[in-house]
Amino acid sequence: MAPRRASRVGGGEPSLAEDQRHGGSSGGGRLVVVSNRVPVPGRRGASGAGGLAVALEAALREHGGIWFGWSGDARSAIDADALDRHQHGRITFAVTDLTKRDVDEYYLGFSNRALWPVCHYRLDLAHFSEQETAAYFRVNSVFARKLIRLIEPRDIVWVHDYHLIPMGAELRTRGFGGRMGFFLHIPWPSPEIASALPRYRQLLTGLAAYDVVGFQTPRDADNFGRCLVEEGLATDLGGGVFEAEGRRVVTGAFPIGIDTNAFREAAIKAEKAPAARRFISTLGQQKLVIGVDRLDYSKGIEERIKSFCAFLAAHPEQRGCVTYLQVTPKSRSDVPEYKQIQQEVAARVGEANGAYGEVEWTPIRYLNQNVPHSTLAGLYRAAQVGLVTPLRDGMNLVAKEYVASQSAEDPGALVLSQYAGAAFELDGAVLVNPYDAVEAASGIARALAMPLEERQERWTSMMRHLETHTVSDWWRSFIDTLSRQGSAAALPSQDAAGATG
Ligand code: UDP
Repeated sequence: MAPRRASRVGGGEPSLAEDQRHGGSSGGGRLVVVSNRVPVPGRRGASGAGGLAVALEAALREHGGIWFGWSGDARSAIDADALDRHQHGRITFAVTDLTKRDVDEYYLGFSNRALWPVCHYRLDLAHFSEQETAAYFRVNSVFARKLIRLIEPRDIVWVHDYHLIPMGAELRTRGFGGRMGFFLHIPWPSPEIASALPRYRQLLTGLAAYDVVGFQTPRDADNFGRCLVEEGLATDLGGGVFEAEGRRVVTGAFPIGIDTNAFREAAIKAEKAPAARRFISTLGQQKLVIGVDRLDYSKGIEERIKSFCAFLAAHPEQRGCVTYLQVTPKSRSDVPEYKQIQQEVAARVGEANGAYGEVEWTPIRYLNQNVPHSTLAGLYRAAQVGLVTPLRDGMNLVAKEYVASQSAEDPGALVLSQYAGAAFELDGAVLVNPYDAVEAASGIARALAMPLEERQERWTSMMRHLETHTVSDWWRSFIDTLSRQGSAAALPSQDAAGATG
């Protein structure tokens, strides 16, 4: 599969980056990032901020601007107009608290029990409640009311992820006519699945209020386009451009990357660090298969354990020769579906070890806790196989981190789900259907037996891609595309044919 580039879209306006290089000749505005959580420096939760937070902060530092969102604090009551502002260099962090009820209904409720499962094709796990749906739109409206006071017409606004779909429409209703983009970090499903969402048309209209709507893969972008057209909300102008209510909406794939060099260097360092060395020494001559996932039903951890058991059943000669390490920090423990999966995964690990283990060998080692990148990178590097088999995933950064951590001399092999967004880019992976234990088991066997030359060839191809599609390439590409759109993207002044570049 050929690696795909983030689509770039041409247009009449100079990009924000170009505008700044030329001294802001068109009076270029600031960048305004909006996300559910905001890693305010020095505050709880900010120190362990992941690669995405670091990348967005770099974008904000370069352009100057505002990072707006929820503080992460829940109170029994809040002042409706309160907003905490913290200035750090060229960045203003502006955060608001939420009430406990808002957190329950908007965040744990509609965002994580309706949007998350539906976008991951799990209608069976979706929980719909009119009260939670209303809270989702209400909180977005409150956020917009607070943000509109901070922004100016020439600013460009970049809204992130499924918690905040209606933000754009709310800002437009309040009179903001500047450029607005939205990036969805998770999958967008086909119309047959998406249309099960409560207030489906309102959600689509909300997305169509942005000038640019970015997705992880061309499949997600295509699904969204089909949703718009099938609902009669937009006309397809070709090349990912749509006309909705007299405005232009540009859609496309902007696959997120990692800080590839930083990860490679972290892996080289981590391999020599005491924590990784101690673990590696316990393996003796055994090969290592590694899985790293938040505890989430979309990750297919139970199916993966079943696949590993199918591998051991089909290859009895491998028993005692391979250890599978599954690193799985707890997540969203306040959501009932997650409590259940925690018990189920632990039970499956116990059953597998009981069935296949021997006195001196435990087939699966299971860690139900977070491992920091400084150790994780060394574990990736020590593993002959990276086992990344989500049932559905927007991108899956673990797959990219595993590749970036390998040594060029003796790289491991990646077994990757055909349903991870990363499968569109990582052309050297062994692709498997995660639902099919027999196929996934033969993928594991193939990866473990892969000759050095083939592993190097596959790894080189994937690494070349990761080096040229880093997380900073991702945000630059999105911001460039967004800043090239005309303010409020009025159709008559735009040449749609030029928008497919
Ligand atoms: N991660 C980590 N420690 C762990 C498990 C995961 O730091 O113990 C990180 C992992 O390195 C990656 C992120 O969490 O950067 C997971 O991102 P991914 O896109 O794979 O999945 P998500 O959790 O966003 O659905």
